[in-house]
Amino acid sequence: MTEADSAVSDGTGSPVPAHAEALVLGGGPCGLYAALTLARAGKKVVLLEKEEVPGGLARGHRRGNNYYDLGVHMLHAFDPEVFETIKGIMGDERVEVPLNALIKWAGSFYRYPLQFGDMVKGMNKVVLLKCCLGLLAYQFRFKVRPREPQNAEEALIQLYGRPLYRFFFREFTHRYWGFPPTQLSATFITTKMPRLSAVDVIKKALAKIGVKDRTVRAVESALSEEILHYSRNGAEAMPRLLVAEIERMGCRVVTNAEVRGVVTDPDTNRVTGVTWRDPRVEGDGGAVHRLTCDLVVATIPVGQLVTAFDDAAPATVREAAASLRTKPIAIYGLLVNKPRAIDALYIYYRNKYFHRVGEPKNAGLIVDPPDHTVLIVEMTCEIGDAKWNGDPEAMDAVAADLEAEGLCTRDQIVETHVLRTPHGYPIFDLGFEKHLGAVQSFLDGFANIVSTGRQGGFCYPNMHKAMRMGADAATAVLERTGTEARFARPDRVDSMT
Ligand SMILES: Cc1cc2nc3c(=O)[nH]c(=O)nc-3n(C[C@H](O)[C@H](O)[C@H](O)COP(=O)(O)OP(=O)(O)OC[C@H]3O[C@@H](n4cnc5c(N)ncnc54)[C@H](O)[C@@H]3O)c2cc1C
Repeated sequence: MTEADSAVSDGTGSPVPAHAEALVLGGGPCGLYAALTLARAGKKVVLLEKEEVPGGLARGHRRGNNYYDLGVHMLHAFDPEVFETIKGIMGDERVEVPLNALIKWAGSFYRYPLQFGDMVKGMNKVVLLKCCLGLLAYQFRFKVRPREPQNAEEALIQLYGRPLYRFFFREFTHRYWGFPPTQLSATFITTKMPRLSAVDVIKKALAKIGVKDRTVRAVESALSEEILHYSRNGAEAMPRLLVAEIERMGCRVVTNAEVRGVVTDPDTNRVTGVTWRDPRVEGDGGAVHRLTCDLVVATIPVGQLVTAFDDAAPATVREAAASLRTKPIAIYGLLVNKPRAIDALYIYYRNKYFHRVGEPKNAGLIVDPPDHTVLIVEMTCEIGDAKWNGDPEAMDAVAADLEAEGLCTRDQIVETHVLRTPHGYPIFDLGFEKHLGAVQSFLDGFANIVSTGRQGGFCYPNMHKAMRMGADAATAVLERTGTEARFARPDRVDSMT
């Protein structure tokens, strides 16, 4: 690796190389795993990450002596190769956690996803009967007259029937996204919504009497009984250990490096480098650094990536990229003066100020002091609103709902840390597929770059799937350099996260 200028260094003080055989943009699970794959393929890799600490959405946030996840992040073992790699890298720092999630629905707690037995036991029998009849009616209806759903509402009704849609999904989906299911794409249901296992049981029963499910498919392998993987520091360990492994192989993970520009060669239709800056330097005062490269795996938000191409991207493509919006999230990490607050890893709520509360101590997180616990309170929001800002009214509403739910009293909340990201969830609004298609075709025109991962692929992978996408993108760009680049997206996800 050549070093451009020893004055250019990242937060660690080490000089940043001027050329990368393989350049990775973004240091979340996808980018880190792509870098690992490229390093293992013998490439001298440089990874540029804009934050001080790598890990992306899955990074650990240290506040005082405790770690707070941006939404409790536990690894699924669904991808054997990714899992074995991470298991090896994490060594003794990995802890195993049986899944134990609950959902509060109609005043009662149910295992999540809903189990058929629980539903029968817990639900009002009239409502249950209505839901089953509704499901039956819609199974028949779409068997006789199959129809492509035009939006998320139609897709949900096809999947679950109208009564269950009204009872369970309509209001929750609206509150979660800030707009009604009629304004969300049907693709949202097939790639984001976890399947209710209770509904599977009913559908299997219907199949036995000849009513086969020919409607849309929800996410195939939703959360089920399984062992998850975590650490005593929460999500913090996995990215840290991945970085150590990448650097052990002689590659570089450069933090505080925000990619601002993409440099292309119009004669060869290749990306030849990027420009980046330290985002801690406000305004135009900070130096712009250049880095040349042979090939790129980009995992930063695809809209930002296309904007960074500047005039090399046609205005229509830049407009399409700007239309790909993401839903911000605000996560309040609370240190609470009681040893334990909930009887699960997390509880989903449908009609509270927050939509999920996790207690990572129940997954093995070490909390200081030990007789306290940490609660992770998750909310979707808008940039600049009360939740995002952590305004007193938002703090108050969170405390009131926690108290009303019996999780803790206001007095027991010792510290509140507001964590946030503008890029929580891609918004699959009506027509987003067209915009994404325009962006994909533009990027496909460059042979040596692949845009992938949650932000780069504008999709909903979990960590293991994001890492798989990183590995696949690395392999694809290695194989295809000199031929055609590919835009990697997974065809399904595994849970509602
Ligand atoms: C609330 C919540 C809870 C979740 N819980 C789980 C869970 O329990 N288990 C699970 O498997 N998955 C979970 N997920 C999903 C998981 O977070 C994602 O799968 C994973 O983080 C995706 O990784 P990624 O690298 O594709 O994207 P990201 O993690 O978003 O990483 C993108 C990276 O790019 C960097 N970046 C952005 N712009 C630039 C730029 N201009 N220059 C340089 N760098 C830049 C960002 O700082 C970031 O580090 C959860 C997600 C959310 C929102």
